[in-house]
Amino acid sequence: MILPKNNRLSAEQVAELTAVVCEFGCRIQPIVGDVRTIYAIVGDERHDLMISRLEGLPYVDRVDTIQSPHKLMDIKSDLANHRVRVGGVTLGDELLIMAGHCTLDPKNPNRFYETAAAVKEAGAHAIRGGVWKPRTNPYAFQGDHRSLDILMEASRRTGLPVDTEVMDEEQLRMALDAGVHILQIGARNALNYSLLRQVGKAIAGRDTVVLLKRSIHSGPLNEFISAAEYIVNFGNPNVILCPRGTQPGLDGYRNHPDESITPLLKERTWAPVVVDPSHSVGKAAYVTACSLAAVAYGADGLCIEANVEPAKGLGDDPKQAVTPAALAGLIKQAKAIHALRRSTLSPVTAS
Ligand code: PEP
Ligand code: MN
Repeated sequence: MILPKNNRLSAEQVAELTAVVCEFGCRIQPIVGDVRTIYAIVGDERHDLMISRLEGLPYVDRVDTIQSPHKLMDIKSDLANHRVRVGGVTLGDELLIMAGHCTLDPKNPNRFYETAAAVKEAGAHAIRGGVWKPRTNPYAFQGDHRSLDILMEASRRTGLPVDTEVMDEEQLRMALDAGVHILQIGARNALNYSLLRQVGKAIAGRDTVVLLKRSIHSGPLNEFISAAEYIVNFGNPNVILCPRGTQPGLDGYRNHPDESITPLLKERTWAPVVVDPSHSVGKAAYVTACSLAAVAYGADGLCIEANVEPAKGLGDDPKQAVTPAALAGLIKQAKAIHALRRSTLSPVTAS
């Protein structure tokens, strides 16, 4: 839909619009109002170049498109019946809990094994743990590829799938070769389209799942969903959207908690939503409230930083990891809210 700056366009201007859209196989249908005329684009209007050229014309205010820019991730896509499964949980049916360290310590594998066993005992279905870490400070601990063996050993010991972040092709290869079940794309790389393409290509034909964090800036929801489209486009639809808070943060919280976007995502896409409350609020004391709010808003799961000894952990753990005991309490309450939602509300609307 083309919205002009003036109430009506001249015949020459309409001819110019028509010539542009014709190049892309579309035509113009004027919709004449009493005061204003707007111009519908009839045909496939998802051509970025066509829209840029129309918006570049001096008499065009803006172009609104009604077709979805993400055809595979769209709620009306043929994939809408696809269900993502992690650790025996079908997302949407049962609340998925992923938990574990922010960062693995290659010098202390036992603490990770203890945490893995304890979060399993608390009710987690998958273990998270950062082998490689995106750090603001280039001199801070960046992770260590030797931690990959520790991550996989924790998976063997608990029988649970494991999640770790990959930031480049080498890490992607190593993680897949080691058998990592869930690849995390972090908030800093969430719009790194070449990485998203590499991940999509690498997981095609496998049952690997991708946990795609929302970008760190508070970008539009279509941007988030389109990032998932980059991955799914190669054939593996096992993508989970993970809101994790955006910048600038809310005074007192590490980020601006964004668990409230879940109902909006669910109106546009079939993808399951697993909220990360830990990075949203950045402090262990607030993680339970954020988790419960996330489930109340319709999240299909939670990804939580937990550590048997948060104070001795690496990365974010001293500030934001919860103990396994706190995790167990949180899971109990979160499951109660999840059950209540399933019995009383439709999955899409929370009114
Ligand atoms: C993490 O999960 O530890 C992490 C770095 O997450 P994010 O990319 O959301 O900051
Ligand atoms: Mn972290």
